Amino acid sequence: MRTLFAGLHQFHKEVFEKERIFFEKLSSGQKPVALFVGCSDSRVVPDLIMMTNPGELFILRNAGNIVPPFGASTGGEAATIEFAVSALGVSDIIVCGHSQCGAIKALLDPKSTEKLPMVRQWLQHAETTRRIMEENYPELSPAEKYEVAIQEHVLVQLENLQTHPSVAVKLQRNQIALHGWIYQLETGQVHAFSPRSGIFEPLMGDKPMESAALAGPVTSNVLPGSSAGDSPSPAAGDNASPT
Ligand code: ZN
Repeated sequence: MRTLFAGLHQFHKEVFEKERIFFEKLSSGQKPVALFVGCSDSRVVPDLIMMTNPGELFILRNAGNIVPPFGASTGGEAATIEFAVSALGVSDIIVCGHSQCGAIKALLDPKSTEKLPMVRQWLQHAETTRRIMEENYPELSPAEKYEVAIQEHVLVQLENLQTHPSVAVKLQRNQIALHGWIYQLETGQVHAFSPRSGIFEPLMGDKPMESAALAGPVTSNVLPGSSAGDSPSPAAGDNASPT
């Protein structure tokens, strides 16, 4: 905790005081450009990886970047989504998974959550991902399954987002775009799902963001190594590419 207090002190002295006008302006209201749905994992820091300032991103984080379908959970996810879309009017929603995600690992290995009843209960909201992996990818090795599950999981959350009335209405009017991303812990790169190719492609800064929301269900061609990664994931073995 000592380092946290030191950080608070340093922020106030070195950042807040220097940018006092900017921070004072923020107190009058917020107009974030996007809702970012990410994992609670301490290694995935949205404002850091996108270099965004306070006020630019509305952030929803939980274990496993899960968006329960509308009506399936009484947690804060639905309220956060509704507020971001209907009250703040964000124009984009990003669902961002990440490599080495502990929640996905636990989803694929239910025994690992035997002594974590709340985690087990929460992961029931990701049962669709687990079932897709079990039924559609039985031939994959555990490392390949892990990699593909991270991708499929993001696509399932994009579909779940579309069950939320606030999102569905704006999608119908073309007033909102949905994006599926995966952040590579190993390289710092982000891969974005392309509905055209059906795979996750490296996201370039100069390329306009493509909406992953389709008229029908999001369909993928994700396979182990189908995303164009640059370096192998330590957990994926020598022959597999990262997600
Ligand atoms: Zn995670």
